[in-house]
Amino acid sequence: MTQAMSTRTDLEAVVAALRDHDRFLVVTHENPDGDALGSMLGATLGLRELGKDVLMYLGGEAPLPAEYGFLPLDEVLRQPPEDVGERALLALDCANQRRIGPDPKVLERAGLVIDVDHHHDNSRFGKVNLVVADASSTAEVVRDILAELDVPLTPAIADALYVGLVTDTGRFQYTNTTPKAFRLAAELVEAGADVHGIFQRVYETVQFAKLKLLARALERAQPFEGGRIVVSYLLRDDFADVGAEEPYSEGIIDYLRQAEGAELVALIREPPTEGGPRHRISLRSSRDEVDVSAIAAKAGGGGHRQAAGFSSELPVEEIVEFVRREFAEVMAEPAAAQPPVPDAASGR
Ligand code: 5GP
Ligand code: MN
Repeated sequence: MTQAMSTRTDLEAVVAALRDHDRFLVVTHENPDGDALGSMLGATLGLRELGKDVLMYLGGEAPLPAEYGFLPLDEVLRQPPEDVGERALLALDCANQRRIGPDPKVLERAGLVIDVDHHHDNSRFGKVNLVVADASSTAEVVRDILAELDVPLTPAIADALYVGLVTDTGRFQYTNTTPKAFRLAAELVEAGADVHGIFQRVYETVQFAKLKLLARALERAQPFEGGRIVVSYLLRDDFADVGAEEPYSEGIIDYLRQAEGAELVALIREPPTEGGPRHRISLRSSRDEVDVSAIAAKAGGGGHRQAAGFSSELPVEEIVEFVRREFAEVMAEPAAAQPPVPDAASGR
């Protein structure tokens, strides 16, 4: 069976499961980003258009990122509801069970687990799974599901899905910005998505404390291998000193990636909330051969080729060593395995 055919079969299975159930719990990954929250809200509003009883749940304790506070997410539960056993659980943008947060038992308690995602390394942990690795965002996959269910795109659904699309494509600049992503953008705008309002609320409402946190990350940024690797870190004290919460670190890595010649960028952070891992690491690649999801996977994490992450109990220096070693290994791979780069030997 071709990839397209199996995706089609999986889509039909998800649509059938959604049609067959009346009560849902929609969940996404902890420390959610715009795609996680936009997909969760878009799917929830969409299923409600069909008269379904839908609750949203988010694991972990970190507060929701403030830049998504304009979305109607007040009702998101931070503890699983009592009746989770009577609900079908729809997991969105979660590559595996552990991404759901410190209490993945909610998955065992749910009546049925439906896993919908766009991470290529998704473990297919659901009873029903739809993983579209070439989708720009989980929001794009949710849109396709809602279309199959004949759910009309209301302005509120369009706003939610647009948030997922615009954030996961880096405002339509990353390599996942396909023609389909642009077509979806047009469709969402036609359905009433407030492009400029979302831009202002997501990108132009940076808390002052976040700017201060960014300043610390920039101050500590360190180039390795002649600038091909850029690493920085944030300590728990940094968050406390500037009055920042954990989600304030989202997006900071994008500033490090702007450095000329940077091919692999890492931001190591010591989460300000207790009870989690010692460090969380974000990785970004700006070169096709450097697959950061493979590097993250070696450390027990995962993600996309160009954006991935993992958690670690190691000290900062050892994490930096690990990243440098992995980069050296990728670069040492036989040239035949890499697309031709005429100027590669000169190191640019
Ligand atoms: P971020 O650096 O923005 O937290 O995450 C970038 C990408 O890596 C996202 O697609 C996210 O889902 C994935 N990711 C981040 N941390 C982890 C992790 O610990 N495990 C896995 N499997 N994926 C991660
Ligand atoms: Mn996503």
